Amino acid sequence: MTDLIDIQSLQVTWRDGLEIGVVALVFYRLLRLIHGTRALQILGGVLVLVAVYGVASLLHLTMITYLLGLVFTYGIFALLLVFQPELRAALAHLGQTPVTKLFRRVEQGPVEDEIAEAVERLSRSGVGAIIVIERDVPLGDFIDSGSALQAKVSADLLTTIFTPYSPLHDGAVIIRGDTIVGAGCILPLSQGMVGNRSLGTRHRAALGLAEESDAIVIVVSEETAVVSVARDGALQGRLTPVQVRDLLAGRLPLPPR
Ligand code: ATP
Ligand code: MG
Repeated sequence: MTDLIDIQSLQVTWRDGLEIGVVALVFYRLLRLIHGTRALQILGGVLVLVAVYGVASLLHLTMITYLLGLVFTYGIFALLLVFQPELRAALAHLGQTPVTKLFRRVEQGPVEDEIAEAVERLSRSGVGAIIVIERDVPLGDFIDSGSALQAKVSADLLTTIFTPYSPLHDGAVIIRGDTIVGAGCILPLSQGMVGNRSLGTRHRAALGLAEESDAIVIVVSEETAVVSVARDGALQGRLTPVQVRDLLAGRLPLPPR
């Protein structure tokens, strides 16, 4: 009965709702950020240690709780070191408010224009290419499969990378925001259309990544010069450079499944 009275006397205000909403959103974004990365495995390891600590302190195993206490105290510094690249990326991401993005755009010219220009040049000269645009799902593992880069996206650089016999022309370029973060990257091949003989490995790789992540993958065919886009597990062919730009700018709907 006393519990009932306590609950009734609880005052739920709009502040509680706001706080619960904000904390839930932060947790959701954090989990999405580390989903599919090694951070998730490390988090699993930390949870195991916490569970061991809980059991040890329940059973009054003082030496184990003491040692694990030390691990937790200093482990936080180790975690800061291990996750330094992720933390830097997350903070930089936070700093990209719509206002700062607006100013950067004016300064540099939109990334989608540079990509569309590159696609047009590559297609015109019959050079094969795969360009991946990372979105919410981090593609760190695929970047690690190739050469890590830190270069501003430009049509000149993209066409240079895919020029035949250049050391990085084989494989995919991965773009994060306005930066090329990887080249010569190996993507997972789609298993879905194994029966479709007309689909070569380049297109199969584009589709494979679009099945595993939310990335947008643009393919220029070496054989036919056709530009295709893989997104949300579907491959759509015969796009014009203007359609590519509109798709990247979010002005074109999803390709049909
Ligand atoms: P195209 O129409 O350009 O000929 P395709 O779909 O017929 O493309 P292939 O002819 O097999 O495919 O293209 C081979 C090229 O695709 C390779 O040289 C390589 O650059 C790229 N490629 C193949 N497999 C992968 C992969 N798993 N990840 C990234 N790139 C790949
Ligand atoms: Mg081929």
